Amino acid sequence: MILLNPHSHSRYYPDERSRQIMLQTIKFFERKGKHRIKEDDRNRAWYGDFLEFQKNEHLFATLLTPSAYGFDADCRWDSWRNCEFNEILGFYGLAYWYTWQVSILGLGPVWMSQNETLKRQAAEMLHQGHVFAFGLSERAHGADIYATEMSLTPQPDGTYLANGEKYYIGNANLAPMVSTFGKIAGTGEYVFFSADYRRPSYQLLQNVTASQNYVAQYALCNYPVTEAEIQSRGEEAWNSALNTVNVGKYNLGWASIGICTHAFYEAIRHAANRRLYSMYVTDFSHVRQMFTDAYARLAAMKLFTLRAADYQRSASPTDRRYLLYNPMVKMKVTTQGEEVINLLWDVIAAKGFEKDTYFEMAARDIRALPKLEGTVHVNIALIVKFMPNYFFNPGVYPPVPRRDDPQDDVFLWNQGPARGLGQIRFNDLHTAFEGFDLPNVNIFAEQASTLREFLATATPDEKQQKDVDFLLALGELFALVVYAQLILENARIYAEDVGDDLLEQIFNCLVRDFSKHALQLYSKPSTSSRQMELCLRMLCKPVVDEERAGRIWKQVYALKDAYELL
Ligand SMILES: Cc1cc2nc3c(=O)[nH]c(=O)nc-3n(C[C@H](O)[C@H](O)[C@H](O)COP(=O)(O)OP(=O)(O)OC[C@H]3O[C@@H](n4cnc5c(N)ncnc54)[C@H](O)[C@@H]3O)c2cc1C
Repeated sequence: MILLNPHSHSRYYPDERSRQIMLQTIKFFERKGKHRIKEDDRNRAWYGDFLEFQKNEHLFATLLTPSAYGFDADCRWDSWRNCEFNEILGFYGLAYWYTWQVSILGLGPVWMSQNETLKRQAAEMLHQGHVFAFGLSERAHGADIYATEMSLTPQPDGTYLANGEKYYIGNANLAPMVSTFGKIAGTGEYVFFSADYRRPSYQLLQNVTASQNYVAQYALCNYPVTEAEIQSRGEEAWNSALNTVNVGKYNLGWASIGICTHAFYEAIRHAANRRLYSMYVTDFSHVRQMFTDAYARLAAMKLFTLRAADYQRSASPTDRRYLLYNPMVKMKVTTQGEEVINLLWDVIAAKGFEKDTYFEMAARDIRALPKLEGTVHVNIALIVKFMPNYFFNPGVYPPVPRRDDPQDDVFLWNQGPARGLGQIRFNDLHTAFEGFDLPNVNIFAEQASTLREFLATATPDEKQQKDVDFLLALGELFALVVYAQLILENARIYAEDVGDDLLEQIFNCLVRDFSKHALQLYSKPSTSSRQMELCLRMLCKPVVDEERAGRIWKQVYALKDAYELL
């Protein structure tokens, strides 16, 4: 089965230590149990138990230290196993995931740095069980990091004094290495440096959120920084900021997948056991439809995200396709997560508010993921840059296999300049559809080809290309094509888990989504009559196949007793 089930965990790992890490983590949360997880959530209790557990078992140290700096042979930065760890943490609670996620972000500029001493220190701190933090955002500037105000003022003795504030910084209450982004006073040159929360001129002002996490506002007031604490400067510092987010934003998809998977098990167990009017809730046709959609969407989220990891692990200076796929995980998978929770919540209704359900947390937390590390809008605005080459200027690459090998993903620390996105090329889209002859896949292929025709023959004019509202609508259609491509690629790789019935159900959703977004684009104020005509051609109904729907429902219904957190 494609979904995580902690009670029968059977994912492939190339080594025993990786398997043990996942099993130990599952055991930790299963032992903690639903009652305590929920109680801690309600009381916004600090997750010291989890941090203690990870410290004792050297979890972050093993998973987040590149092998060159590792304390034992099992240390490596291996996205195959980090994906799984991400998913497990999301499955049990977003707060646990968040402290891991911001450690990843905090370590990004360190592993990208040329400062070997700092890297050794970070490895030592990981070994001691510390967490890390990433101080990029500022209160007044949101996504606009050009406007960063944190400054380092050079002193006559060659050191610096840091002054400024950061806002929304996870783990900044206890990370001895807070990677802080700023500018050199006078020159405006970008800089990343390490700040330590234990020093007196580091002022922890408040937790900005009301959650189990500590999402800090901190101020540096004449905080002394030595050259040895500088991580990077100039273009390198700028690239470190963007390249770290390239890696970090990918993880958001896994948090959504973990949350949705747990919520799905809870919802179907409840609905399948609830009797109304002498029938089970799962006997209603609309309930079956909602569960079927939720299941297909969740499977699609996972197939896409797994495949994006293959590209991330295979990336090189000549293959930077991950720069499209990672923001897609961020914007598409996390918004699909919201859709899955909406569908499930419509079924379980009042139950989703109960304090003892996992669902109550899921319904709240799933909303966060589209908003972190660049909003959905920022990421769509980013991906439309790839659109011309994606459709009209294909390249040729060797096949990318499933990347489950025990390798260090060292390229992530050497990604190079964070520019030139419009030059990146992709395989011809037709190759993704080759070998599939399924009704809904074929309809979707037609829709994608109409979008290509739209771009070629009714190309958005200069004004439309500057209109973010128009571009976002167009970007949603493009995103669906890319989503479909990677799902198809992984349907081949995971053929045993997926099968034609599930793939058809996934494409049933994609055909409807494509039609919905085509209608949005049709309705934009500036859409021309030729563009409207093409949008109408993109509106399609998926093929109805009662037998297939029946078979898929059996798969979905079989999950009713698959998992429960006690
Ligand atoms: C719980 C939580 C934890 C966080 N943790 C961290 C952390 O550890 N470290 C850290 O550095 N930051 C962190 N952040 C900050 C987070 O990354 C920012 O929220 C995010 O970058 C967006 O900024 P903003 O929410 O202020 O939105 P704004 O930047 O104010 O955006 C406002 C609106 O403008 C739109 N917009 C902005 N720019 C563009 C654009 N270029 N194209 C299209 N639309 C655009 C946005 O989509 C949005 O709708 C955290 C935030 C939260 C809520």
